[in-house]
This record gives sequence, C-alpha cells and structure tokens, in this order.
Amino acid sequence: MAKLNVFVDGTWLFNACGADRALANRLEYSDRRFQLDHTKLVQELLAHAQQHIPECDSIGSMYFATSVFDLPEDLVEWPNEREDVTVADVEFVQRGTAAREKFSQGAVQAGYSDAAIFRPRLKGWMLGKLREHRFQEKQVDATVVALLVKYAITCPDDVHVIITGDSDILPAIRVAYPEYSDNVLVATTHPDQLRADSRQTSYALADFDYSIPPFYLEQNADKVMQGTNVYKCVHCNKVFSRPNPIPRKTAACCKPCHQKRE
Ligand SMILES: [Zn+2]
Repeated sequence: MAKLNVFVDGTWLFNACGADRALANRLEYSDRRFQLDHTKLVQELLAHAQQHIPECDSIGSMYFATSVFDLPEDLVEWPNEREDVTVADVEFVQRGTAAREKFSQGAVQAGYSDAAIFRPRLKGWMLGKLREHRFQEKQVDATVVALLVKYAITCPDDVHVIITGDSDILPAIRVAYPEYSDNVLVATTHPDQLRADSRQTSYALADFDYSIPPFYLEQNADKVMQGTNVYKCVHCNKVFSRPNPIPRKTAACCKPCHQKRE
C-alpha cells in the first residue's frame, strides 16, 4: 500500500490555465481560461501513478503552494495619492488577485492544505513590476521543493507528484533526494506546447530519468476540465463542455467546426 502525495506550484498551474497557454490551446476557444477541476486532476494523477506503481492506490498529503496578495483597504485611493499608480494598475491587481483567490479556493475545496498559500501584503513598488510581468515569487518554488523532499525522505514507499513547469527546481530535488527517479512523478505541460521562451526549461524537465513517465496536462485536458458533459470534437479534437449531454448517436462537434460545416 502506498499513497500519492501531491505538491503543486500553484502559481505556475494558474498561469498554465491562462488564455492561449498550453491548456487553453486545447479548448474550442483558446482565448478563454481553461477551467481546471482540481479533484479530477488529482484522480487522473493517481490513475497515472498506479499504472506504473500498482500498490499506489490512494491519496496522501496534498499541498498547493502559491501567493495571493492581501490587498490594502485603501487600494482604490492609491491612484489619487501616488504619482506612480494608475487606476488601471489597481484594476489589474484586483482582477488578478480575485482570479488567483478563486483558483486557490478551488484547490482547498478539492482537499489541498492551505498551509503553503502565502498572503503577502501588496506594496506600492510591486505594481510597476506586476504591470511589466517582472514580479517574482521565489518562495513558492522553494516551498514546493522543501515539502516534496521532506515527504520523499520520510515516506520513501509513497509516490510523490510535483506539478510544475519550472525544471530549475529539479537539480535541488536530485541533490536532496537522489532516489527521486524511483517514486517522484512530474506533471507539467509538454515541451512542444510551451512558449518558445520557456522551452529550454521544460526540455530539461523531460530529460530527467523517471520510472514513472511525466504526466502531460494538456494531453489530458478533457479529463481534468470542469463540467459533467465534457467532449472532444470528432473533427479537430478540441475540448469543450456543454450544460446538457450530447445525445449518444450525435457526434460531438465543437462550435467552430459546426459553423464551418453549415
Ligand atoms: Zn472541432
């Protein structure tokens, strides 16, 4: 009997679900966010792990690491008080924070511990960096590695899955836990699906030698998406969900393909 312990770089996963990113590219409309079902994802990871390590048959500990800003009460006043803050900056950070909060709450409802969800207070200097997408969250990567290594050492018979797109953390895992290849599983996006600027990183990820092959999220998009009626288009293979089931004898066809055929 072995458990599957799950460690998520929640910031990376949130971004991987963004419009026009790897998972959204599988949708009938790729300019929308991919609506990930955290519970389905965990169940798919367990099934994947069990295919390769049959005694791994239940879920153990689950950690979702991310940071969600704690927004000051007077945030809406900032554009009046500070030269370097615009109304657009404030709206941008409010929207982003609300979306991350919702994503993180979804993870907690699916059973993840919230112990690795950080709540840094938003400071004025951060807004400029956020605007230019230069804001770094180093503590998230470090936390995921620390938790995974702790569990790997204390529960060597379990399987440990890390959901990340950042292979920079793998050398740290390898040094701290040289047996990683036996029972550490990586869930990520396929290198071909990544933007050119991050390709280097993810090729290195796949180069690591594991006994359980990586789990590629976008290849399982239909299995990890929210909704009870999720389909793959018979023409283009894109993924979509509908409020009502499609009758059995009707082929599942996405809206863009349907429109092309009219
Ligand atoms: Zn289609």
